[in-house]
Amino acid sequence: MQRITILGATGSIGVSTLDVIARHPDRYSVYALTAHSRVEELAAQCIQFHPARAVVGSAAAADQLGALLRAAGCKTEVEWGEAALCSVSCASGTDAVMAAIVGAAGLAPTLAAARAGKKVMLANKEALVMSGQLFMDAVAGSGAALLPIDSEHNAIFQCLPAGYGRVPAAAGVTKILLTASGGPFLKRDVATLENVTPDEACKHPKWVMGRKISVDSATMMNKGLEVIEAHWLFGAPAQQIEVVIHPQSVIHSMVSYNDGSVLAELGNPDMRTPIAHALAYPERVASGVAQLDLTQVGTLQFEKPDFERFPCLALAYQALRAGGTAPALLNAANEVAVQAFLEQRIGFRRIDRVIAQVMDELPHGAASSIEAVMAQDALARAAAERIIAG
Ligand code: NAD
Ligand code: MG
Repeated sequence: MQRITILGATGSIGVSTLDVIARHPDRYSVYALTAHSRVEELAAQCIQFHPARAVVGSAAAADQLGALLRAAGCKTEVEWGEAALCSVSCASGTDAVMAAIVGAAGLAPTLAAARAGKKVMLANKEALVMSGQLFMDAVAGSGAALLPIDSEHNAIFQCLPAGYGRVPAAAGVTKILLTASGGPFLKRDVATLENVTPDEACKHPKWVMGRKISVDSATMMNKGLEVIEAHWLFGAPAQQIEVVIHPQSVIHSMVSYNDGSVLAELGNPDMRTPIAHALAYPERVASGVAQLDLTQVGTLQFEKPDFERFPCLALAYQALRAGGTAPALLNAANEVAVQAFLEQRIGFRRIDRVIAQVMDELPHGAASSIEAVMAQDALARAAAERIIAG
């Protein structure tokens, strides 16, 4: 029986994780569930899955959750705050942690799970983008198992030689081909992009996701973050990671080898597939996802990404090449700019300009400690807010 903590249980990935877990009560139990503010959803999940512990973002939310659970006769212990998030991630009562909080807020608990040697199922790409070397060192130091949930990285993991999490020098890997749907604005007239609404940006053609990652998909910053994520997860240099637009999202990514072979992982676009893969690895379990019918799909298309249409993709490659805390600056500026766009304080085309300006203004340093990374994160957030307000 694997005992699971889900960080970000009420989000899109959290809900899909619980859907897979509910199909296999003989294999998985829930140790802890966390949510930021969606208390009613979290209460319903606690009543269904009986975790030992639940964590929310504030004392008020904890009071509210406690009252809902008591009324339902549910014995889950309620806590709140970052220390509690870290505690449920490294507790002896949990074997595996689904890291599915969105953004930098997920870094501390995800790192706590890695340091404690848990099986870490990583959806929270921002944590790895911010602290790549430190995070991978923590994983190596504790012997934690790291399994990618991001569909592209999960696909790459499956296409690498079995038993390797990373690109081994002798394996003959020449390229990692990260596929990208291109998002909702792949073909839209660039001149009209300034006026798109948050709802239009969040209407992804292939995936149903949280709002932040949906905007990232529309700017293709999501793919940029994924290039950095692939660099750290698989130990591949920037020039070995290539983005390929594939609008059908049937191929989730590929690995090419020096003998001319290209291995791909295919499936319907549904996050329950990589979630089930990570939960059961190295075994396989049913995920609830329908089998892929290629005759229904008919055509698979591929094209090169347009870096002028998607400047965020270029900014991410630039940050990866610069190294140190540059990816943390990029990530923080992006989080602030996306939030401002979602709140309609800036237009869509200002997202990349805010990030570029923050990257120009702030010198990056060495990512020598989590404190150094968090200090740069705070500076970048303040700079982005100032640029947006100005
Ligand atoms: P979401 O917005 O649907 O859910 C986010 C979750 O994080 C919620 O449970 C929320 O309560 C929690 N949360 C938000 N802010 C928090 C804070 N400050 N402190 C603590 N908890 C907080 O997001 P999502 O789409 O499920 O994405 C989660 C992560 O997974 C992101 O990092 C995203 O990039 C990654 N991811 C998502 C998908 C997808 O299909 N949704 C695919 C690949 C990767
Ligand atoms: Mg992805």
